[in-house]
Amino acid sequence: MHSPKQSPSALIVGAGITGLATALSLSRRGWSVKVFERTPAFEAVGAGIQLAPNGMKVLRALGVEGEILNRGFLPEALEMRLGKTGRRVFSIPVRHVAPYRWRAPYVHIHRADLVAVLADALLAAAPGALRLGASVQTVDEAKGVIRLSDGSEEAGDLVVAADGFRSGVRAQLFDDSPPRDTGMIAWRAVVPAQRLGSDIPPETACVWAGPGRHAVTYHLSKAGLVNFVGIVERQLDQPEQYERWDVEGTRHEALADFAGWDPEVTTLIERAEGLGRWTLFDRPPSPAWVSGCAVLAGDAAHPMLPTLAQGGCQGLEDAWALAACVCAYDGSRDAAALSAGLQAYAAFRQPRTAEIQRRAMRNARDFHHRPGAEALRAYSTLWLGARLLPWAARAQLDRIYGYDITAEAPSVPAT
Ligand SMILES: Cc1cc2nc3c(=O)[nH]c(=O)nc-3n(C[C@H](O)[C@H](O)[C@H](O)COP(=O)(O)OP(=O)(O)OC[C@H]3O[C@@H](n4cnc5c(N)ncnc54)[C@H](O)[C@@H]3O)c2cc1C
Repeated sequence: MHSPKQSPSALIVGAGITGLATALSLSRRGWSVKVFERTPAFEAVGAGIQLAPNGMKVLRALGVEGEILNRGFLPEALEMRLGKTGRRVFSIPVRHVAPYRWRAPYVHIHRADLVAVLADALLAAAPGALRLGASVQTVDEAKGVIRLSDGSEEAGDLVVAADGFRSGVRAQLFDDSPPRDTGMIAWRAVVPAQRLGSDIPPETACVWAGPGRHAVTYHLSKAGLVNFVGIVERQLDQPEQYERWDVEGTRHEALADFAGWDPEVTTLIERAEGLGRWTLFDRPPSPAWVSGCAVLAGDAAHPMLPTLAQGGCQGLEDAWALAACVCAYDGSRDAAALSAGLQAYAAFRQPRTAEIQRRAMRNARDFHHRPGAEALRAYSTLWLGARLLPWAARAQLDRIYGYDITAEAPSVPAT
């Protein structure tokens, strides 16, 4: 017999979207949580993020949907246009459709706002739960102990590694193979709408497709910010140096990447204050997600290309599923009981995240067709499909956006 404790405890490595949402999710289920984030302060770095209805359902269940809607923007539609001509390939309405068809809105928001909303909600639920400037060096998954870079240690029942694409915990416990350079770079900028004059992009989540590159434009907030992401097949020397939010490229270089494109794209580049340039790396999902009391979540478990705008949303789904799967654990340090929940979480999440990862890769190919017969065939199929079979185009999205992890996640009975 194990004697139950007051409440089970979790140590969470990383205060990105996944780490904060996991902490909030566990805290709402009565866990005591501590989040360790190596950066000393949350900064307003980064750019925008699209929160699809599947991610919004988690934010709703965590009680922060209202605050997200206050700060975010609801796009009119998801659309694809040709980069050079601006010609529309397809448009799928979402502003008025998403709440009915997928049971939650589709929202654009600045990442800094999303992180702030999650962090505020966490601190309201669990004051003192967040430790900034705390870098986790190692995890002892048999004892439930983490060691920080200042030499101190913390102990808990569960260790959640939400430490992102280059997860140190994944390298230590599961897989230390290096990420693969995709040969693509991502340009990123946020531009005040009033600087764009008549060349303001549409109020949609718009993919502008072209040979070997694509751009994504969308409005970010009611305060009038427009987000630009440009993905270009291009190799940089020493690509590892450019996998950071704060590395900038030159305007001249970005304009050369999109030379001859629609002014709604090039004006964004011309008027941007800074143009972040990021190398896109890729890696397969971790071969295993659970070791002892340690578990992976978010990009640490299943990094994916940004071409489906789902990485963050999958981190939110993980956060909910993990808490649901371990909620029967009562803090008795009964390793078998906790392990059953963690294994259930991994088995439940692996197929969906792998499928979404594959679809993101397929999109990267579909957006970058070379001019000529291949592009004509691909884009006219999409164009025709959207006109003749609009329900089929939407049905493709149903599997992603219509999914409701808050209803689907298993709850694992106590052993
Ligand atoms: C160009 C681009 C566009 C994207 N657009 C979208 C989109 O529109 N919609 C969407 O859903 N997704 C999008 N994504 C994906 C999304 O950004 C990621 O999937 C998401 O940020 C992953 O969140 P995470 O919390 O798992 O990891 P991260 O955001 O990487 O957070 C990990 C955190 O852990 C911290 N950390 C790391 N190591 C340690 C340590 N040892 N100790 C303590 N702390 C540590 C880091 O500092 C960081 O704060 C996009 C990605 C890119 C690159």
